[in-house]
Amino acid sequence: MFVDTCVAASTRLRRVSLGKTTEGRDMIGVLRANPPVNSLDDARASPEPKVLVLANIHAGEVEGKEAVLELLRRDAFEDGLSEADGCVVLFVPNYNADGNDRMSRRERPDQAGPVEGVGRRRNARDRDLNRDYMRVWETETRALLAATARMDADVVMDLHTTNGSFHGYDLTYAGPLSPATAPPILGITRGRLLPDLRAAMARRGFATFDYGNWRDPKDPSKGWESFEPHPRFGTTYFGLCNRFTILSEAYSHDPFDKRIASTRAFVEESLGWIGRNAAETIEARRTAARFSGFLAGQSLPTRATFARTHEAEPVPVGSVREIADPVTGLVRQWDSGVSTPVPMPVWAWFDGTDERPVPDAWIVVADMDAAAAVLDVHGIPYVRRTTAETLDVEVPVVEGRREGSWADIRKVRPFKVTHTKERRTIPPGALEVPSTTPLARLAFHLLEADTDDGLGAWDHVRPVNLPAEDGKERSVLPILRITKADGRG
Ligand SMILES: [Zn+2]
Repeated sequence: MFVDTCVAASTRLRRVSLGKTTEGRDMIGVLRANPPVNSLDDARASPEPKVLVLANIHAGEVEGKEAVLELLRRDAFEDGLSEADGCVVLFVPNYNADGNDRMSRRERPDQAGPVEGVGRRRNARDRDLNRDYMRVWETETRALLAATARMDADVVMDLHTTNGSFHGYDLTYAGPLSPATAPPILGITRGRLLPDLRAAMARRGFATFDYGNWRDPKDPSKGWESFEPHPRFGTTYFGLCNRFTILSEAYSHDPFDKRIASTRAFVEESLGWIGRNAAETIEARRTAARFSGFLAGQSLPTRATFARTHEAEPVPVGSVREIADPVTGLVRQWDSGVSTPVPMPVWAWFDGTDERPVPDAWIVVADMDAAAAVLDVHGIPYVRRTTAETLDVEVPVVEGRREGSWADIRKVRPFKVTHTKERRTIPPGALEVPSTTPLARLAFHLLEADTDDGLGAWDHVRPVNLPAEDGKERSVLPILRITKADGRG
């Protein structure tokens, strides 16, 4: 196949496998380094920054796949991908390979071709892989997280194509959106990485800006806002793991070749930036990891609200013309090529709300095996307690459920809880998850009882009846908080 032809022709490319998809297709990866590296373990050992370039997670959005294949061809047969010389890159051209092979002319019928059709958004089990990062239901997600950890990616790029609001940009982007992301990652992403990429893309003739949609589709002048801050999305998930992340969204209503060209230019510029800023990128990750282990007693947000990042940004309001597909009759929308800049407020990021101190540890006292399986996939360390012990703990008492945001096949309905301080006997077998690890930010989001994407929200851990000290019945999410200052043992 095409990838093997490129690999055979280039001294810098190596084919690796991330595993198998649900239906047994190979999850192809191509390592690119100069000098070459042969495996994910060798990649990890390199002093250069490691970049994962993920394409086709939504297999209807094929522009990333096409752009990556062009980059491999360029490296093997054309002028060489010299921008990437300062990095070790793992290209994953066709992550959702099962969705890709469900190609149909009826997928994404509104976009401006290719009329021959594209793959399906969801995987073989009809699940959206870009909502799966926290619940880790899908075999593809588990393979990807294992590979990312194995190479210890410094940066994850996720390539998409948006068919949202009609705008005048060639490509839109985002970094990690959770306000709980480590400050060095957020600071560099917002302050330098994304502005530098915007300027570099402008020099190449591509208009880019923060990803968003009209706050009010009937009146674009009311503003442009980002999407959701939840770590079920890859770019926000990997941010909570102290990795840099870059979301790329080509524009559905541009011609197909233009969408590929903008995506390819964005990947080239991103790799160049990371290579030129290698020391700073790696050092920021190290700092983020080190300080994330000392969060106990500091507050982190459990929720987020839109942050106004621009007061009057001239956002180009675009328009499309509609042309019926001669075969399906479905109406395709082609960018008119005309857009009008309208000054408007922009909400590109999120501020944290509902802050809570990070405990020293969480203790899972029911559904331990289910919780352990999820923690293993995420690489979060824990210990299984072997003896009973009486401890001062905070117990999350369930008050009800909140309406959550739309995510895949059902509404996520996170818990509403109140915490009560109690002295309780912890049974042997309970899982103790310390917060003193580099993945504390991710652990906080998984283990706090009322976050949007935690073990409770996704039903890995279910409420139990745990009577109060006065014997009164009540429902509790069995993930207790322990703070040593409260007096342990
Ligand atoms: Zn997408």
